[in-house]
Amino acid sequence: MTAGYQGTRRFALSIALLAALGLARPAFAQQATDAVAPEIATAISERTAVTASKYMIASANPHASKAGYDVLERGGNAIDAMVAVQLVLGLVEPQSSGLGGGAFLVYFDADGQRLTTYDGRETAPRAATPTLFLNEEGQPLKFFDAVVGGRSVGTPGTVKLLYDTHKAHGKLPWNSLMQPAIDLAQEGFEVSERLFSSISADLERLGVHDATRSYFIAGDGTPHPQGILLKNLAYAKTLQKIAEGGSNAFYSGPIAQAMVDAVRGAGDNPGVLALEDLASYQIVERPPVCITYRTYDVCGMGPPSSGALTVGQILGLLEPFDIAAGGPQSVRNWRLIGDASRLAFADRGRYMADSDFVPMPTRGLLDKAYLADRSRLLDGDVALTGDQVAPGSPPWDHARLQADDESIELPSTSHFSIVDGQGNVVSMTTTIENSFGSRVMTNGFLLNNELTDFSFATHRDGIPIANRVEPGKRPRSSMSPTIIMKDGKPFMAIGSPGGSRIIGYVASAIIATIDWGMDVQQAINLPHLVNRFGTYDLEKGTDAETFAAPLEALGYKVSIRDLNSGLHAIEWDGTALRGGADPRREGVVLGD
Ligand code: GLU
Repeated sequence: MTAGYQGTRRFALSIALLAALGLARPAFAQQATDAVAPEIATAISERTAVTASKYMIASANPHASKAGYDVLERGGNAIDAMVAVQLVLGLVEPQSSGLGGGAFLVYFDADGQRLTTYDGRETAPRAATPTLFLNEEGQPLKFFDAVVGGRSVGTPGTVKLLYDTHKAHGKLPWNSLMQPAIDLAQEGFEVSERLFSSISADLERLGVHDATRSYFIAGDGTPHPQGILLKNLAYAKTLQKIAEGGSNAFYSGPIAQAMVDAVRGAGDNPGVLALEDLASYQIVERPPVCITYRTYDVCGMGPPSSGALTVGQILGLLEPFDIAAGGPQSVRNWRLIGDASRLAFADRGRYMADSDFVPMPTRGLLDKAYLADRSRLLDGDVALTGDQVAPGSPPWDHARLQADDESIELPSTSHFSIVDGQGNVVSMTTTIENSFGSRVMTNGFLLNNELTDFSFATHRDGIPIANRVEPGKRPRSSMSPTIIMKDGKPFMAIGSPGGSRIIGYVASAIIATIDWGMDVQQAINLPHLVNRFGTYDLEKGTDAETFAAPLEALGYKVSIRDLNSGLHAIEWDGTALRGGADPRREGVVLGD
């Protein structure tokens, strides 16, 4: 069976924006931006892939891509560019990521021909206990009651990740990489349509804490209009201190004290972050989690992220099936992808959390024999029933005494991919969790609400939940920064924001590339169909809607909704680099 899939979309090009940045020249090719509301609305424009021969960056904001491009142009490497990009994103896209958040980096080091990952995830403060998100009656708090304030703030990891990986792999002086963001913060940047919409949709919550309100909201209570110049002198000062003092200037001293004061003094919802939590924060280098899919090795971030394991399970469950035939028009293919995803999410909910704290069958979850056996569940012709979608029994499982989890994730976050002239590759997903994080701001940056990625409930029927809060633990993530290898060489870097739908966005884009032969931009443009827990989400305003009736006929519930990914990816075709930026956001690809 096939459904209409013509890819007709709304179209808009922001040449004016690129021209303002001095970027509207052919080497950069054109990228489009279009109206987008805060992590929700999805206006899609047609885009074509950008090609280059030496280096490339794809990120969610033109200023950030430009900062990274400039670093690469003056001889910096991918890690140098990563630092500049992240610091600019923290200024111009403050709702999504920044100094007060956490990140995962998947990195290919060309010198050593080595793939590795760095975990800069936020951690639960030492004083956080499993009942952090329960009320006095022992019931889970309402999501936003937990989010807004100090309670949800984990020890931030991004600054340490930037600093330590730059120390290990960077080339240009650390302090020079702060400059683009410092200049932009001092001179002011134009409030983008996306930032304006994000503020407009969140006025009430942004108004709770004084420092946050006075930065994001004008004196008359309205959001700063789109296009006005916004300066952030406090952010510039913070970066100057980090430029001089490295990450110590952030994790100790006055900035650290200000974070602790802001968290502990956050009105009627204080948190427990302490100076010792900041002083002892460490990033963790971890081996990549990889699965072989067709002739490729798909590698990404293991626990505490569920990203690479769940993307890997989806691909592993699909491996026995020919899904090249029929392409994205095939309803059968979407049945297979949707039910593979539901099975993977069932294992995710039971087993996946911070494996430094709970026993996890990490190897077993991607065991080929286990996945081949489980994929037989997909042999039928109709949707699996709810009863059929239960967690499996992966080998090396020491986690039998765990209950299914109850975490809530709402999408924010940002992903960027970078390739430098030496062949180093950065695939980084970076977050403060919810849009504007905890809404608590200090020294020009927002603090994350990452702790709400833990399960609020601690037990189910007396059985502990793997992703419960524990002191020093890292909340389970869905972030899926990925590097795909082919014959031992990097083939693609990709990732996305989108809460736990990240997993579906990334898995589908990989399938579109590997099975359906699309280039990176076509794969990103493809309308989204995502199934995590049974309901098939179909991307509103796109041809994905035409799958509603055929999928319902197979037994799925469907929901037509905005699916606001932010896929930013780069691929190699042997000689050239090709980059794609998600038309659902404001990003651009720049290369040379
Ligand atoms: N906090 C989420 C996670 O780590 C990411 C949220 C998002 O992408 O929107 O999985």
